[in-house]
Amino acid sequence: MKYTPVIGLEIHAELITQSKIFCGCENTFGRESNTTTCPVCLGMPGALPVINKRAVELAIAAGLLCGCDIAHISMWDRKNYFYPDLAKAYQISQLYAPLCVGGGLRIDKRFIRLNRIHLEEDAGKLTHAHGTSHIDYNRAGVPLIEIVTEPDITHADEAVAFAEQVRQLLVHGGICDGKMQQGSLRVDANISLMPEGSTTLGTRAEIKNINSFRFLKAAILFEMERQAKILDKGGRVAQETRRYDEQSGETFSMRSKENAHDYRYFPDPDILPLFVTNEDIERIKNALPESPIARRERYVEIFGLSSKNADALLAERRIADFFDDTVKQGANPQAACNIIKGELMRVLNESKRDDIPITPADMAKALRMAADKQLAQEGLRAAVSYMFFNNCDIDTAVKANNLIVREDTSLVSSVISEVIAQQGDIVARYKKGEEKLIGFLVGQCMKKLKGKALPQTVDSLLKRRLKIIEPV
Ligand SMILES: [Zn+2]
Repeated sequence: MKYTPVIGLEIHAELITQSKIFCGCENTFGRESNTTTCPVCLGMPGALPVINKRAVELAIAAGLLCGCDIAHISMWDRKNYFYPDLAKAYQISQLYAPLCVGGGLRIDKRFIRLNRIHLEEDAGKLTHAHGTSHIDYNRAGVPLIEIVTEPDITHADEAVAFAEQVRQLLVHGGICDGKMQQGSLRVDANISLMPEGSTTLGTRAEIKNINSFRFLKAAILFEMERQAKILDKGGRVAQETRRYDEQSGETFSMRSKENAHDYRYFPDPDILPLFVTNEDIERIKNALPESPIARRERYVEIFGLSSKNADALLAERRIADFFDDTVKQGANPQAACNIIKGELMRVLNESKRDDIPITPADMAKALRMAADKQLAQEGLRAAVSYMFFNNCDIDTAVKANNLIVREDTSLVSSVISEVIAQQGDIVARYKKGEEKLIGFLVGQCMKKLKGKALPQTVDSLLKRRLKIIEPV
């Protein structure tokens, strides 16, 4: 039988705040276990929570970016469960009156509705290895928003596109760093199937804590197939929580899925309701940066970049900002995109630096020199890498590496002789008609020339030289 998948997502995003949501502990990643904790986030008797204003502002910003209505009054509830990742044995969350309601995002031509965005505290992290379990409460009390969609998503690619869009909005809004491998953005997917043409929802399974877009797609596709097989045999899909195993690419049952009432939610008596005024909302709205949706449109429509290139620049806000600033300094957008996506991203990843120690003016000047053929492409890359690691301007980089291309044909000529001598086999094959090998030979010369000649020059001189070599 054919089935229509019905998919809803819950996206958990940790907020970029100095401190945790209900206490003054530092909100950072990667500290030694259990060092950023206090009686409040450890749930000690007598400790009382105090709400972090910044967390509320960031959650409102997320709501505004996703088109939600911001509630003037929202409330806190206790979600009760016993598990060692939560010292209090309850999580402070928002069930009955969340901060952001409704809204949604357009993905291609479809509108995916949001049910809500609410604020809550993250739980600690458990690691199990070699028969022991380790609890780290550094993450306990980290502010978290949960973005909950309606079950409007109809295929795996749409789910990924939606989650990517949310990530981009949060990263550009300075709300969440979007680092999925560190767990600061995690996705739960609810999936059910209904027979094609039917309007009755099937029983759903929930796959928890997916931490990459690739796994999200794979998990949904696997789950659709698993459920279809059960239904085809006349079986019933169990309502349960499942885990996606990255090694096998399969989902496994963790526990039967509980309903909200199983958690005995009740209003938290320790915290007052949250009051948000129109002035608060207006102030947060005015402080929002240009949305990445508008930005992507600008890159594609005005700068003529492909949407793939636009998305690559928009994956990180610092990259997109640097690109915009470089273009403002007069660089050609496509050329700027190429060098930023290529060499700049490479050195950023290699150095693991957060800042970009090149000024947009120097980058624009380097690109102009390349356009004027003063710098070869290889020289341009060398200049960018040198500026990055030496914190200097383009003139210093060019001078230090002798990068300006002066068509020193005698140098090119001697390098060509060297390469021909070293690559006898390739030269012989070229002479026998394998003309595409010219690219390899030019590459060998360019490597030795270290950006001091243009490939076009090398190509024509090399071809001329090869012509006069006798075939063997
Ligand atoms: Zn604390």
